[in-house]
Amino acid sequence: MASDPHETVADLLHRDGQRYTRARRGLVRTLLGLTRPATIAELGTIDPGQSQSSLYRNLAVLERCGAVHRLSSVDGVARFELSEDLSHHHHHLACEGCGRMEDVVLPDGLESTLHRITADLGDEHGYEVHRHALELVGRCADCRTSDG
Ligand SMILES: [Zn+2]
Ligand SMILES: [Zn+2]
Repeated sequence: MASDPHETVADLLHRDGQRYTRARRGLVRTLLGLTRPATIAELGTIDPGQSQSSLYRNLAVLERCGAVHRLSSVDGVARFELSEDLSHHHHHLACEGCGRMEDVVLPDGLESTLHRITADLGDEHGYEVHRHALELVGRCADCRTSDG
């Protein structure tokens, strides 16, 4: 990860022929402050200065240059986070009740075991594995409480 994530994003955008506008910078600042993937509606609540349509457009531009990663949760609603190059390697929990997603970090030992396993699995199919993503699906604490 670069020392200044904004420089990295500016670089990625530049390579894609795009400018790092004030709105995009604000969006990246919001994403840097998140601890879990957010929907466009949630991003709009955090930064009410941007309309949902401009958020949507800017997220698409940031996704295309590789700065932002789009996830589809079990509720079918897209959620966004910074790409791992700009944050850190992690996995996700997803709630079947409300669609909420959480970031989870595996303990180092488990992560390197997983890395080895995925490399072997790829090998078996003639693939060179570049990354992996683990999604744990279940019910979040809130939904479990309302289940009674
Ligand atoms: Zn839930
Ligand atoms: Zn991992």
